[in-house]
Amino acid sequence: MRNDTTGPATLTAAAPAGAAVPLIDIGINLTHDSYDADRQAVLARARAAGVVQMLVTGASPSGSAAALTLAQAHPSRLFATAGVHPHHAAQLDGEALAQLAQLAARPEVVAIGECGLDYYRDFAPRAVQQAAFHRQLELARRIGKPVFLHQRDAHQDFHAILREHAPQWRGVAHCFTGGETELSDYLALGLAIGITGWLCDERRGAHLAALLPRIPASRLLLETDGPYLLPRDLTPRPASRRNEPAFLPHVAAAVARARGESLAQLAHASTDAARALFMLPAPAATDNLT
Ligand SMILES: [Zn+2]
Repeated sequence: MRNDTTGPATLTAAAPAGAAVPLIDIGINLTHDSYDADRQAVLARARAAGVVQMLVTGASPSGSAAALTLAQAHPSRLFATAGVHPHHAAQLDGEALAQLAQLAARPEVVAIGECGLDYYRDFAPRAVQQAAFHRQLELARRIGKPVFLHQRDAHQDFHAILREHAPQWRGVAHCFTGGETELSDYLALGLAIGITGWLCDERRGAHLAALLPRIPASRLLLETDGPYLLPRDLTPRPASRRNEPAFLPHVAAAVARARGESLAQLAHASTDAARALFMLPAPAATDNLT
């Protein structure tokens, strides 16, 4: 997650026209209270926009349990991650770790995370963040599921810890906004790269557009990170400034343009890449609409 902007739960913008190729939103904070009033409508708009599967992000023990509950209500369409975000690292005591391990064993939980380091906010002491990160990498290895990684302003320590645990894990660097060095390091580690609507921000996304062609198609994943990171160039912009999965085709189109690929080509490859990393089943043809 990015604690950038969220507004009240109203949406005025229409969802973009349905994407021709199914997309997977690998990072949506769907348990966030900004979706409480209209979560079913959000899911319906996602479907109409061609977003066929989503990973509901867990960022704390209670948030991960809520993400699992949501995923269980929408089999083969919603999945969950289970983890403790670096902001909440202090919550990961022995009891919480045992809870997390139980959640992580569920088939609907397809990744451990968000986990990682965030020295931008420093909401938890760095040593505490590092300890929580180590524990979650060990958990991922034990249960054989990939990690969903968050890193901000902490590349050096983050990279060192991942290397320490390599090659015992696989995973995705979620919401990648870094530079050339970070990308090279991540690719060398074998990570997949998660791209959000950060790319669509003309003030801070230009460097990212230049790096996108370097990401192998089989390792490029798409995410909204809603309700955060509403693409800045979206028109019309919802008055709430809340992001949601129905806007993923907009992000996909921006990624395709930056890579010089067709939208269909990009969508196909990233959907395959997401299914492979998280071992997702194909969505059932008749799963319930809500
Ligand atoms: Zn995050």
